[in-house]
Amino acid sequence: MADGQGAVGEVRIKPDRLHRFTMAICRADGSSDQEAKLIADHLVLANLFGHDSHGVGMMPHYIQNTVSGACVRNHHAKIVRDNGAVLVIDGGAGYGQVVAKEAMDIGIERAKKNGVCVVGLINAHHIGRIGHWGEQCARAGMVSTHWVNVHGHKSLVAPFGAAEARFTTNPYCTAVPRKGKEPIVLDFATSQVAMGKVRVANNKQIQMEPGLMIDAEGNPTTDPGTMYNAPYGAILPFGLHKGGGLAVICDLLAGALTGGKTHSPRTIKKDGTDIINNMLSIIIDPASMGGAEFFEDEVENFIGWVKSAKPQPGVAEVLTPGEPERARRVDREKNGVPIDATTWQQIVDTARKVRLNDIDIPQMAGA
Ligand code: NAD
Repeated sequence: MADGQGAVGEVRIKPDRLHRFTMAICRADGSSDQEAKLIADHLVLANLFGHDSHGVGMMPHYIQNTVSGACVRNHHAKIVRDNGAVLVIDGGAGYGQVVAKEAMDIGIERAKKNGVCVVGLINAHHIGRIGHWGEQCARAGMVSTHWVNVHGHKSLVAPFGAAEARFTTNPYCTAVPRKGKEPIVLDFATSQVAMGKVRVANNKQIQMEPGLMIDAEGNPTTDPGTMYNAPYGAILPFGLHKGGGLAVICDLLAGALTGGKTHSPRTIKKDGTDIINNMLSIIIDPASMGGAEFFEDEVENFIGWVKSAKPQPGVAEVLTPGEPERARRVDREKNGVPIDATTWQQIVDTARKVRLNDIDIPQMAGA
């Protein structure tokens, strides 16, 4: 039994315990302390922000990939092209939590120097919640925009109007820093729903909402199993032709422009379990454009104006991107992170698989 019981078939784990357990699994699998910490920081924060699809539930997949060699432990980002304000950085299939952080560190330094830096991070193992990278840039005072594609993995998302999948959930993020306040962080998958949310529904054996997925014939379905059992269905892009178009642009910018490769038969692996991300990031120092003070003042002016709008009936408050995540964090810091029983069992099984000391597992898992 873990920290506490949540809804039926769900455990609630205190974030610090979840962090220790995640770190312990990574270390037992051969990651350095520093790598284990970056992974745990990233995944637990995703859970705290309410994005369980990108939280500690990823651990079984990550360890499966380190064991197969699809994710390389203790690997660091390497600059492979350097044009001053434009960089290509190879992740070498290293943990995304490590190589994306390193790529952003380099990009931020260059943007401070040149006013802007365009970073093509290629060939990184799963870089998780893209907002994490926008927030890193925002903490350094930078505006950033990020376009991401995925390959190695099988296709999951149908192009607009198509009855079969051609790419994956291609996320997009823009983060805008604010003086003395938390940043604006718009961060989403260009699919109707992130694949991890389908995984969570499949684990919980519940139906998805209507309008998110199609079956193998292209007809609407709410069964998450359509993504797990052949003949496979697909997730729809969000926002009809507009979201469908944005998803295509993600593959073109992150995969073709950077040199990282698009999602196509050239990169899809047969078993479809690798998750390689490429990311085009544009990092801009506001001081280099309208000026830092002007920018800070205009951001507050505009956000204040947006939030002053009268809410629709049934809506408590007009929120800006990033606010829902921070509200969920307050709740989960206090009440623990809810994890469905199947996901929790998979994580505990993963701990056993990496031979985390059997005596430690019940203690770490909160028994
Ligand atoms: P989502 O649909 O929950 O949308 C989240 C965004 O919408 C956030 O910016 C949030 O602040 C904003 N938002 C939500 N409700 C709001 C409201 N009422 N008012 C104002 N803004 C609001 O996100 P998602 O599509 O499920 O994506 C989840 C996560 O999955 C993201 O962090 C994404 O980066 C990640 N992801 C990663 C990969 C990868 O390959 N690494 C692939 C897909 C998704």
